[in-house]
Amino acid sequence: MDADALSGLVDLARRTMKNAYVPVTGFPVGAAVLSKNGQMFGGCNTQSVISGMGVCAERSAIDHAVVNGHYCFDAIAVVSTLEEPIAPCGMCLQYIGEFSQVADGDIEILMVGASGHLERSSIRKLSHRIFGPSDLGLDLAPYRHRHG
Ligand SMILES: [Zn+2]
Repeated sequence: MDADALSGLVDLARRTMKNAYVPVTGFPVGAAVLSKNGQMFGGCNTQSVISGMGVCAERSAIDHAVVNGHYCFDAIAVVSTLEEPIAPCGMCLQYIGEFSQVADGDIEILMVGASGHLERSSIRKLSHRIFGPSDLGLDLAPYRHRHG
Protein backbone atom coordinates (compact mmCIF):
# COMPACT_ATOMS: atom_id res chain seq x y z
CA MET A 1 0.00 0.00 0.00
CA ASP A 2 1.44 3.39 -0.95
CA ALA A 3 1.69 6.33 1.44
CA ASP A 4 -1.21 8.25 -0.16
CA ALA A 5 -3.60 5.31 0.15
CA LEU A 6 -2.49 4.72 3.73
CA SER A 7 -3.03 8.33 4.82
CA GLY A 8 -6.32 8.53 2.89
CA LEU A 9 -7.60 5.43 4.65
CA VAL A 10 -6.55 6.67 8.09
CA ASP A 11 -8.08 10.12 7.39
CA LEU A 12 -11.39 8.51 6.43
CA ALA A 13 -11.35 6.39 9.59
CA ARG A 14 -10.73 9.53 11.67
CA ARG A 15 -13.54 11.44 9.91
CA THR A 16 -16.07 8.64 10.39
CA MET A 17 -15.03 8.22 14.03
CA LYS A 18 -16.59 11.65 14.63
CA ASN A 19 -20.01 10.14 13.81
CA ALA A 20 -19.73 7.33 16.35
CA TYR A 21 -22.86 6.74 18.43
CA VAL A 22 -21.40 5.98 21.86
CA PRO A 23 -23.80 7.11 24.62
CA VAL A 24 -22.84 4.16 26.85
CA THR A 25 -19.03 4.35 26.96
CA GLY A 26 -18.23 7.64 25.25
CA PHE A 27 -15.43 5.75 23.47
CA PRO A 28 -15.57 6.46 19.72
CA VAL A 29 -13.79 4.21 17.22
CA GLY A 30 -13.43 4.76 13.50
CA ALA A 31 -12.46 2.39 10.72
CA ALA A 32 -12.11 2.40 6.96
CA VAL A 33 -11.64 -0.40 4.46
CA LEU A 34 -9.78 -0.23 1.16
CA SER A 35 -11.43 -2.35 -1.50
CA LYS A 36 -9.36 -4.16 -4.12
CA ASN A 37 -10.39 -1.60 -6.74
CA GLY A 38 -9.18 1.29 -4.60
CA GLN A 39 -12.45 2.56 -3.14
CA MET A 40 -12.63 3.37 0.56
CA PHE A 41 -15.56 2.96 2.93
CA GLY A 42 -15.72 4.34 6.46
CA GLY A 43 -17.41 3.03 9.56
CA CYS A 44 -17.84 3.93 13.21
CA ASN A 45 -19.01 2.14 16.30
CA THR A 46 -22.63 2.30 17.42
CA GLN A 47 -23.79 1.27 20.87
CA SER A 48 -27.04 0.25 22.46
CA VAL A 49 -28.17 0.21 26.06
CA ILE A 50 -29.04 -3.43 25.34
CA SER A 51 -25.91 -5.45 26.07
CA GLY A 52 -24.20 -6.88 23.01
CA MET A 53 -26.34 -5.05 20.47
CA GLY A 54 -23.79 -2.51 19.31
CA VAL A 55 -21.58 -2.75 16.25
CA CYS A 56 -17.84 -2.11 16.12
CA ALA A 57 -16.34 0.38 13.68
CA GLU A 58 -14.51 -2.33 11.73
CA ARG A 59 -17.68 -4.32 10.99
CA SER A 60 -19.52 -1.06 10.28
CA ALA A 61 -16.90 -0.15 7.64
CA ILE A 62 -17.06 -3.60 6.05
CA ASP A 63 -20.87 -3.50 6.03
CA HIS A 64 -20.71 -0.05 4.41
CA ALA A 65 -18.58 -1.55 1.63
CA VAL A 66 -20.88 -4.56 1.28
CA VAL A 67 -23.92 -2.30 0.94
CA ASN A 68 -22.09 -0.81 -2.04
CA GLY A 69 -21.25 -4.19 -3.57
CA HIS A 70 -17.63 -4.51 -2.41
CA TYR A 71 -16.48 -7.72 -0.74
CA CYS A 72 -12.74 -7.90 -1.41
CA PHE A 73 -10.40 -5.76 0.64
CA ASP A 74 -6.68 -5.03 0.76
CA ALA A 75 -6.63 -3.19 4.07
CA ILE A 76 -8.60 -1.87 7.02
CA ALA A 77 -7.58 1.05 9.25
CA VAL A 78 -8.71 1.36 12.88
CA VAL A 79 -8.45 4.55 14.94
CA SER A 80 -9.67 5.69 18.35
CA THR A 81 -9.18 8.57 20.73
CA LEU A 82 -6.58 6.63 22.73
CA GLU A 83 -2.98 7.74 22.28
CA GLU A 84 -1.81 4.24 21.40
CA PRO A 85 -3.18 2.03 18.58
CA ILE A 86 -5.97 -0.41 19.36
CA ALA A 87 -6.49 -3.81 17.73
CA PRO A 88 -9.81 -5.16 16.41
CA CYS A 89 -11.81 -7.25 18.91
CA GLY A 90 -12.28 -10.97 18.47
CA MET A 91 -15.61 -10.62 16.68
CA CYS A 92 -14.08 -8.21 14.17
CA LEU A 93 -11.08 -10.49 13.62
CA GLN A 94 -13.55 -13.25 12.74
CA TYR A 95 -15.42 -10.91 10.38
CA ILE A 96 -12.26 -9.60 8.70
CA GLY A 97 -10.99 -13.18 8.49
CA GLU A 98 -14.12 -14.32 6.69
CA PHE A 99 -13.71 -11.55 4.14
CA SER A 100 -10.06 -12.52 3.68
CA GLN A 101 -11.42 -15.88 2.51
CA VAL A 102 -13.69 -14.06 0.05
CA ALA A 103 -10.67 -12.12 -1.27
CA ASP A 104 -8.55 -15.28 -1.03
CA GLY A 105 -5.70 -13.25 0.44
CA ASP A 106 -4.43 -11.44 3.48
CA ILE A 107 -5.93 -8.12 4.63
CA GLU A 108 -3.58 -5.55 6.10
CA ILE A 109 -4.68 -4.08 9.44
CA LEU A 110 -3.50 -0.54 10.18
CA MET A 111 -3.93 0.46 13.82
CA VAL A 112 -3.32 4.13 14.53
CA GLY A 113 -3.35 5.91 17.88
CA ALA A 114 -4.34 9.53 18.41
CA SER A 115 -0.61 10.20 18.82
CA GLY A 116 -0.13 9.13 15.21
CA HIS A 117 1.66 5.96 16.27
CA LEU A 118 1.01 3.43 13.47
CA GLU A 119 1.11 -0.32 14.00
CA ARG A 120 0.88 -2.48 10.87
CA SER A 121 -0.25 -6.06 10.96
CA SER A 122 -2.62 -8.28 9.02
CA ILE A 123 -5.52 -10.60 9.61
CA ARG A 124 -3.31 -13.64 8.98
CA LYS A 125 -0.86 -12.44 11.62
CA LEU A 126 -3.45 -11.47 14.24
CA SER A 127 -5.71 -14.44 13.60
CA HIS A 128 -3.82 -16.93 11.51
CA ARG A 129 -6.47 -19.64 11.56
CA ILE A 130 -10.18 -18.90 11.56
CA PHE A 131 -13.24 -20.94 10.84
CA GLY A 132 -14.96 -19.45 7.81
CA PRO A 133 -16.95 -20.05 4.67
CA SER A 134 -14.03 -21.87 3.01
CA ASP A 135 -14.16 -24.53 5.73
CA LEU A 136 -17.74 -25.23 4.71
CA GLY A 137 -16.85 -25.32 1.02
CA LEU A 138 -19.20 -22.43 0.33
CA ASP A 139 -19.06 -20.77 -3.08
CA LEU A 140 -17.55 -17.31 -2.64
CA ALA A 141 -16.95 -16.68 -6.35
CA PRO A 142 -20.10 -14.54 -6.74
CA TYR A 143 -18.60 -12.02 -4.31
CA ARG A 144 -15.13 -11.76 -5.80
CA HIS A 145 -15.79 -9.25 -8.58
CA ARG A 146 -19.04 -7.49 -7.76
CA HIS A 147 -19.22 -3.76 -7.26
CA GLY A 148 -22.89 -3.01 -6.76
ZN1 LIG B 1 -14.93 -5.34 17.09
